[in-house]
Amino acid sequence: MSAFSATDFKSRADAALADRTLKIAVERTAGTAEAKRAVAVSAFPDFEAARTRAAAIKDHVVANLGAYLEEFEANAIAAGAKVHWAQTADEACRIVIDICKAAGAKSVARSKSMLGEEIGLPHALAEAGIDRVETDLAEHIIQLADERPSHIIWPAMHKTREQVSALFKAKHRTPHEEESIAAMAESARRELRVGMLGADVGISGANFLIADTGAVCTVTNEGNAELSLVPPRVHIVTAGIEKIVPSMPHAVHMLRMLARSATGAALTQYTTFYTGPKRAHDHDGPEEMHIVLVDNGRTRMREQGLAEMLRCIRCGACMNHCVVFRQIGGHAYGGTYPGPMGSVLTPTLDGLPKSRDLAHACTLNGKCQEVCPVKIPLPTLLRGWREKSWREGLEPTSMRAGLGVWAFVARRPALYRFGTGIAVRAMRLLGKGGWIDSLPLGKGWTRHRAMPKPAAQTFMAQYKKAQRK
Ligand code: SF4
Repeated sequence: MSAFSATDFKSRADAALADRTLKIAVERTAGTAEAKRAVAVSAFPDFEAARTRAAAIKDHVVANLGAYLEEFEANAIAAGAKVHWAQTADEACRIVIDICKAAGAKSVARSKSMLGEEIGLPHALAEAGIDRVETDLAEHIIQLADERPSHIIWPAMHKTREQVSALFKAKHRTPHEEESIAAMAESARRELRVGMLGADVGISGANFLIADTGAVCTVTNEGNAELSLVPPRVHIVTAGIEKIVPSMPHAVHMLRMLARSATGAALTQYTTFYTGPKRAHDHDGPEEMHIVLVDNGRTRMREQGLAEMLRCIRCGACMNHCVVFRQIGGHAYGGTYPGPMGSVLTPTLDGLPKSRDLAHACTLNGKCQEVCPVKIPLPTLLRGWREKSWREGLEPTSMRAGLGVWAFVARRPALYRFGTGIAVRAMRLLGKGGWIDSLPLGKGWTRHRAMPKPAAQTFMAQYKKAQRK
């Protein structure tokens, strides 16, 4: 189970909608990401075919997961790494803590990993009395603010520059004086280098695991992974079992899709492949490398009809293009993973009764599926959760009764036309200047924004009129 709960989604979404600063911060980053992705995709020769290939690679791996995992394990061991298997989040944390304790670690440097968040690793390290230095700049901001990530690529996207500046001034030992991005980055660099270079253990996630070489691939834009994983004596990788790709050409294809979809770049600034620990002829590198392969519900997802979700390469494009995410930001979702992909994943981690509202945080406009580099049918998967929630009687009585009335009326065209005609007339009476500010039975909508006044005639009436012409 993830450390946070997706219950109370509606109250958190309400609070987020009332937060103007949050809206500005989210829109700035998501809007820029959307524009940059569009440019990168249009410059890519046949991006659609590349998406189809990426989806096929992942489907092939998921269908043959056991064989590829065994191949990866054998090659990673041959390269000198130790491979551990964890069925659950607790087991994964216990393995990591045991390795840290065996290494006599007092502090660890961590490179950004959403899997680490998913399994609750920051909390487990704190409980074990091990200091943690988050080396990704955004994760550093989150750690200073004692918050949690709100986006899988930009964990601090909910913060404005002004808020970050104030935070650095309050928490850094020698903070910046000049109000500029460069000065703030320098302040973070000064602070982080001390922690990175003094760490006993480096912990990372993995963007891809290469089966035929046993290599682990990480990508960052700051070079913090390399700086925090090479100097310490021990390197621990925690990776979801779905991160496997068969070989390097497959990894390269996925890297091209990932960078363009995430940030609009042709390639992420730092892309590194780690194959085993330091060898005799190497000048530097960790003496031990441990790879913890984590299931935590992934095998179950295949049985739940969610195998397509295991294609996900955590690019964040679905959330950048989601109209709901852009209104409420990531924290409102409550789980480790926000946005459309989070709404599909969270019920598998937290259970459907606690997270059933997430499946409804979607207009089903299909934009997320359109931009997903591995063609995950997110709206279909969300509809699947809605259906399951309905079948299991998890929807509130008021909703079941309302939909029952709707189904009764919708099956009787004459009654439907009569009812919608009355409703449209009533709504037109409530509208002023083209907009309705308050709607009885529709406060969930009008509490946060006005509703457009309906047209004088229903669509069907207009359609019939047009046919007669
Ligand atoms: S679901 Fe698709 S778009 Fe969303 S993070 Fe995963 S790969 Fe990216």
